[in-house]
Amino acid sequence: MAETATVRPLPADEVTAWDLEADVVVIGFGIAGVCAAIEARRAGADVLVLERTGGWGGAAAMSGGFIYLGGGTALQRTLGFEDTAENMEKFLTAALGPGVDEAKIHDYCQGSVEHFDWLVAQGVPFKEEFWGEPGYEPPGDQGLMYSGGENAAPFNAIADPAPRGHLARTRDKKLGEKGGGYMLMEPLAHQAEELGVRHEYDVRLRRLVVEDSGRVAGVVATRYGKPLHVRAARGVVLATGSFAYNHEMVERFAPRIHGRPTATVEEHDGIGIRVAQALGAELAHMDATEVALVADPQVVVRGILVNGRGQRFVTEDTYAGRMGQAVLLDQENQAYLIIDEAALEAAFESQSSLAFLRTAPTWVAETVAELESEMKLPERALQSTIELYNHHAAQGEDPFLGKKREWVKPIGTPLGAYDLRGYTGGFTLGGLRTDLDSRVLHVSGEPIPGLYAAGRVTSGICAGGYASGCSLGDGSFYGRRAGVSAAEGK
Ligand SMILES: Cc1cc2nc3c(=O)[nH]c(=O)nc-3n(C[C@H](O)[C@H](O)[C@H](O)COP(=O)(O)OP(=O)(O)OC[C@H]3O[C@@H](n4cnc5c(N)ncnc54)[C@H](O)[C@@H]3O)c2cc1C
Repeated sequence: MAETATVRPLPADEVTAWDLEADVVVIGFGIAGVCAAIEARRAGADVLVLERTGGWGGAAAMSGGFIYLGGGTALQRTLGFEDTAENMEKFLTAALGPGVDEAKIHDYCQGSVEHFDWLVAQGVPFKEEFWGEPGYEPPGDQGLMYSGGENAAPFNAIADPAPRGHLARTRDKKLGEKGGGYMLMEPLAHQAEELGVRHEYDVRLRRLVVEDSGRVAGVVATRYGKPLHVRAARGVVLATGSFAYNHEMVERFAPRIHGRPTATVEEHDGIGIRVAQALGAELAHMDATEVALVADPQVVVRGILVNGRGQRFVTEDTYAGRMGQAVLLDQENQAYLIIDEAALEAAFESQSSLAFLRTAPTWVAETVAELESEMKLPERALQSTIELYNHHAAQGEDPFLGKKREWVKPIGTPLGAYDLRGYTGGFTLGGLRTDLDSRVLHVSGEPIPGLYAAGRVTSGICAGGYASGCSLGDGSFYGRRAGVSAAEGK
């Protein structure tokens, strides 16, 4: 069998010569990897980053660039929003559960203000402007918005709403190209280079190298198919991303998003998880997924979302990712958006980063009964939903799902429906179980010596739910920790 055709660890005494050496070897040059590299270098280590593609960036550089931070960051305060670490913790515990790692959430919230200052100190720019309308992202380069349903039911009754989606300032914003994620990664990659972090591109992790004692001593990688043995004197940091593109793993652990990977990249093939599993690493929340609903929130908020039986199930003024999860995980991926003509016209006049999704409804009708029949819903299914919704909406209320008064309006006629069945996709959130020092934990609960991890190769602050910015947030936060821990040999 070829030396690189297995994920089983290679015994260190079988390595005859090391091709490359460093104190700390970071695998993956995305958000977690770059932050690990910077901090390991600052802690005095000689750092080498191995990256599978031809340059730094990963999914992070293609991303929208939300970083979930709060507790009273300088940007929140400048823009007039009050927040505390305790308030943020209340929200995240409720919104990212059930089953969150409480110690991690507490730690993350306590360190959030300092982490924002650190990003700014590395040269990441944030524009002091708030975007307050529904959307996945602001239409321009605004630096702050609600990104997790903080100001919508049920969370607005659990914690004081505060916007925590911090966005690196963009230049000439174009979707999928040099967005906030690129503007986050560029200064960080530049900083790593300035500090003397070394890198090798087109080098792909295959296996870990392990000493008799169980300590991780390096990795086996390949470059253009040829094996490379890389020694890590102090530690290896895994920062290779999620398993969203490993179809077999997705089928096994998170089958509902099988065949629908979005907001991810093909390099997220789960290798970091597998090489650590082969050493006895513990996993957490492998079924957790981010799920996006492919629809413009400015349109959704002005209508009602119904399931395959014509019933409402989620408030339409919440975070679109929460709606996506509700559709895919609770409603068998069946959803329709019902909206009347006047509301649709108002939506089309609003600003959005997703205006390109503004097409004509799938069905239009003069009456609700006619629409219901065109959609082939059971007789009176939609009619009773709209009758009940309108009854309360006439008073500006939504007693069932708690949609905010400003968005509650009776559905009039003529009206239409968008067929959103199957309009979801996402990425995986589960992975290696790590402690607050980003040490990879063995199934016994003890750290695996010499092995650290951060980013979507790990289970971070999300367990069940999600808020935009949590991936770049915990990836950068625990990436830094991983770098320090590896350099100090914790
Ligand atoms: C369009 C889009 C929008 C998004 N928007 C947001 C957002 O606004 N906020 C947010 O928090 N998240 C967002 N995400 C998700 C976020 O980008 C990722 O979850 C995040 O980048 C994960 O960080 P990471 O460091 O684990 O992975 P990455 O940033 O992807 O870095 C992993 C790196 O490891 C490399 N690698 C993989 N395998 C190997 C190997 N075998 N050997 C060597 N190197 C390897 C990869 O090539 C990559 O460079 C978005 C993603 C996309 C694609």
